[in-house]
Amino acid sequence: MENRLLSQRLQNISFSQTIAMAAKARELKKRGYDIINLSLGEPDFSPPNFILNAAKKAIDEGYHYYTPVSGYLDLRKVICEKFYRDNHLKYTPSQIVVSTGAKQAIMNLLLSLLNKNDEVIIPAPYWVSYYQMVRLCESYPVVIPTTMENNFKIHPEQLERAITSKTKLFIFSTPCNPTGSIYSYQELKDLSNIFKKHPEVMILSDEIYEYISYSKEPVTSIAIFPDIYNQVITLNGISKAFSMTGWRIGYIGAPEWISKSCDKIQGQMTSCANSIAQRAAICALKSNPSEIEYMIKKFKKRRDLVLNMIKKIDGFQLNNKPDGAFYVFPKISFFFGKKLHGKIIKNADDFSELLLNKARVATVSGSAFGNDECLRISYASSEDKIIEAFKRIKKTLTLI
Ligand code: PMP
Ligand code: GLU
Repeated sequence: MENRLLSQRLQNISFSQTIAMAAKARELKKRGYDIINLSLGEPDFSPPNFILNAAKKAIDEGYHYYTPVSGYLDLRKVICEKFYRDNHLKYTPSQIVVSTGAKQAIMNLLLSLLNKNDEVIIPAPYWVSYYQMVRLCESYPVVIPTTMENNFKIHPEQLERAITSKTKLFIFSTPCNPTGSIYSYQELKDLSNIFKKHPEVMILSDEIYEYISYSKEPVTSIAIFPDIYNQVITLNGISKAFSMTGWRIGYIGAPEWISKSCDKIQGQMTSCANSIAQRAAICALKSNPSEIEYMIKKFKKRRDLVLNMIKKIDGFQLNNKPDGAFYVFPKISFFFGKKLHGKIIKNADDFSELLLNKARVATVSGSAFGNDECLRISYASSEDKIIEAFKRIKKTLTLI
């Protein structure tokens, strides 16, 4: 009965599979099972002390009240400086909106732009919430598939073919969650040439993993191409780079008509992002990126470790080398149709479930990310845990 009362909008979407898997792992742990959690994209470091001290100071100095809806002016100024320093992007504080995590920033944008039945182009594999948030807005995700052979990136012709008169927005992440791929300067330039021909199509460039890059080339922001600057919303946040997932600070740089509309929505929804976290974000974003180099070095070591261990597991296929973020996305369809412990593995959901129940390792099925032949493994965990997890996975699968 109650379910029938729920909105159609809500019935269009499912629970977040990343969050659901993390909750399952947490629940099993609470019941005494020794679970290794490689499901959630959540760094295991403590945020740097200088940032924690800034938050303590903010409490002592009395930052307890609502802030301007789009965020403290001095924070927005620091964000402009950060965009210029790291991305060569010129924004003014009126083009910046600080939100309760990048998640709220995305939802602000979608609610600003989308009408029922509009189309949003999303290359797959995509981050789970893009698809579901678009559905929540009663719009259509138009998914462009990619292949591991092409490093999970789209060709400009694919983009061109996908654009219709109903296309409002294109959403992608670079570095990508879940594949770790990074679009090069030239690849983005080629895509920008397509967008240039369609000035009515907006682009959400999710750069939340910007600092978590192992490539020598810096991560390019698509907004640097002047012809399309006014079509781009550049998204970033402090969750991943500074290991501050619970602090909930994300931000956008965008054309002013977009930042104004996001401010309007946010003013009705949450008033503003948390005041203390905003003060801490000033300190984080002002700091030299070299301050967090130690975390990136660790992630790189873990990535190399994971790539090595994956090679040793028959049936896991990973031909590309992820250059950023902290995920690998191997193909595991080799196991489909095979029987383990009396159960046939039909798809990636079954496979991930099996790893949880038999190997006691939590991962996320590729179906969450629009590719149900793959599995997402997060290596935002200690080396010891990663080594133990792969030992368990290998042992479980040799029984097949
Ligand atoms: N974009 C991507 C690609 C992500 O992986 C995440 C995961 N947290 C987010 C956005 C949302 O980040 P936040 O914690 O800032 O809401
Ligand atoms: N973004 C992280 C992930 O993909 C955190 C969970 C979530 O927000 O979906 O695992």
